[in-house]
Amino acid sequence: MRAVVIHAAKDLRIDEVAQAGTLGPRDVRVRVEAGGICGSDLHYFHEGKIGTILLKEPMILGHEISGRVEAVGSDVAYIKVGDRVAVSPSRPCGACRFCQAGQQIHCLDMRFYGSAMRTPHVQGAFRETLIAEASQCHVVLPHLTAGEAAMAEPLAVCLHAVQQAGALLGKRVLVTGSGPIGALCVIAARRAGAVEVVATDVTEAPRATLQQVGADRFINVAAEPDALGAYTKDKGAFDVLLEASGNAQALVSAFDVVRPGGVLVQVGIGGPAMVPLSMIVAKELELRGTFRFHEEFALATTLLSKGLVDVKPLISASLPFTEARAAFALASDRSKAMKVQLAFS
Ligand code: ZN
Repeated sequence: MRAVVIHAAKDLRIDEVAQAGTLGPRDVRVRVEAGGICGSDLHYFHEGKIGTILLKEPMILGHEISGRVEAVGSDVAYIKVGDRVAVSPSRPCGACRFCQAGQQIHCLDMRFYGSAMRTPHVQGAFRETLIAEASQCHVVLPHLTAGEAAMAEPLAVCLHAVQQAGALLGKRVLVTGSGPIGALCVIAARRAGAVEVVATDVTEAPRATLQQVGADRFINVAAEPDALGAYTKDKGAFDVLLEASGNAQALVSAFDVVRPGGVLVQVGIGGPAMVPLSMIVAKELELRGTFRFHEEFALATTLLSKGLVDVKPLISASLPFTEARAAFALASDRSKAMKVQLAFS
């Protein structure tokens, strides 16, 4: 079978690879149909690393995938051949102290698809067929396209971010950074009952898409640097910040517009930042992290299947996986693309 393999920065190839293992009794063999290119895939492509995590050997990329079930193991009862599934890339061990405590996100032995965090690296899912555990595979309703089903993974990231923020019913929410994760945070916040959602970015490109997915207002903070100023009135207008850019300046600027007692959730991964501790103290703010997801993957597939969220406006393009280099170039150009996906069959 063929797979999309990163060998080093800028060295992305379509390689012939062996099928990983045989179908066990609790496994499912999936014919991969769609795979979304994520920011982390782009970091490996451009830099050969993510932050301090270095690519040390060739690795199949990809962790946002969906496909059609080709075969099921003898113990698999709830998934049938022919079902379309979204596959969770998260494989916690189930045995460590965090898994036992229901904190699978912090598993001590996590094997997340397409991650160089451990060596040998955990191979990813940009491949023609995949053997996954049945527990990773979530059946979606037939009317969903493969591309929509593949959005379950980034949607799950944003549903977890919203969970970290606490109840959003009736709240006013600021989302900074309007790439796919910021846009999905808008969708998730809206679904959770936010009454006002304002999204920002440092480019103009996401405006139409963000308004389409439910942002009340989009602010290009590069073009309108003072536009957030109106929200500083009376100690801050927003109850919650979802910071999806990973840019320290976005976080710092939010301290003035989040009300006392508000919650700031850091979703984007960035470098070290200077944070105004005096404002955390004086406004009694809470700064929280959010990392990946666990149970929210199932919720994402349910919301998609029931039509309670619409992710179609975010899918900019789908290219054959054999044109992965062109797809990665397109995904890297924020003026042209939001989410770019690979088509495998
Ligand atoms: Zn574990």
